[in-house]
Amino acid sequence: MDRHDRSLIEQSGNNEEQLSPNSNPCPICLGPIKCEAYLDQCFHNFCYNCILQWINVVSRKCMPRPSSVKCPLCKADNFSVIHGYNRGSFQRHYINEDCIFLSEAHKYRSQCYSTETGTLGDKFDVLRFWKLRKYLHPNRWLHDWLRRELQALTLEEDVEVIVHHIVGSIDIFRNRQKHSVGAVDVKEQFISLISEAARPFIAGRTERFVNELELFLASGLTIDAFDKVYMQQLSCVPEETVEGEASEHPHHDRHLYVFDNDSE
Ligand SMILES: [Zn+2]
Ligand SMILES: [Zn+2]
Repeated sequence: MDRHDRSLIEQSGNNEEQLSPNSNPCPICLGPIKCEAYLDQCFHNFCYNCILQWINVVSRKCMPRPSSVKCPLCKADNFSVIHGYNRGSFQRHYINEDCIFLSEAHKYRSQCYSTETGTLGDKFDVLRFWKLRKYLHPNRWLHDWLRRELQALTLEEDVEVIVHHIVGSIDIFRNRQKHSVGAVDVKEQFISLISEAARPFIAGRTERFVNELELFLASGLTIDAFDKVYMQQLSCVPEETVEGEASEHPHHDRHLYVFDNDSE
């Protein structure tokens, strides 16, 4: 343990008091600090989640991930976030360490949101989805898909509340449609209902999110199969991933379609 680490622990001694509302608000959320964390060089303190989100936002655009981050307050370069102090021990999160819950799939999906959807609407036959009222079928992968998308979009690990809220809105939509045969503006109803539910959480990305949800539901695919088709259609992934996967499992996709037995 170097001198630096020791001083971090000394600072951590008065951790509890920092939770009182007005003594030392978090410079990012301006609220009382929750799960206090320090930057390792300038010792400025923040909520652990606030500073992690800050780091994710500022380093997201950089490839490879930078190894330091400028403090939002003093602009000093810092290399890690110190958190979870407990009787002389602490944990360290390095700046170039990815959020543990963000998988490669999460990263891929968050890239997708900044690319054009191209011909995916045709590929997943969105028109048929609406025409044949496939939206009335429950989708058993929906919950997991929503969780991943929302984690990728919000960089929050715990998105269950949002997932439930959106699943609830989809259920409301489905139930309404069951009882209104031949409604003309079904798609518009879907878009407005889901947008309203999602907007408070993902703001400017709502429209695209609803669009992605439509694609996913229309595809009738598992999450993996959906990703695979997506990757084949869009070039927002490293080429070798697409080529490698496709040539290794040439017949894989066929087993993953679930709506192939539709009568038309
Ligand atoms: Zn905060
Ligand atoms: Zn600072």
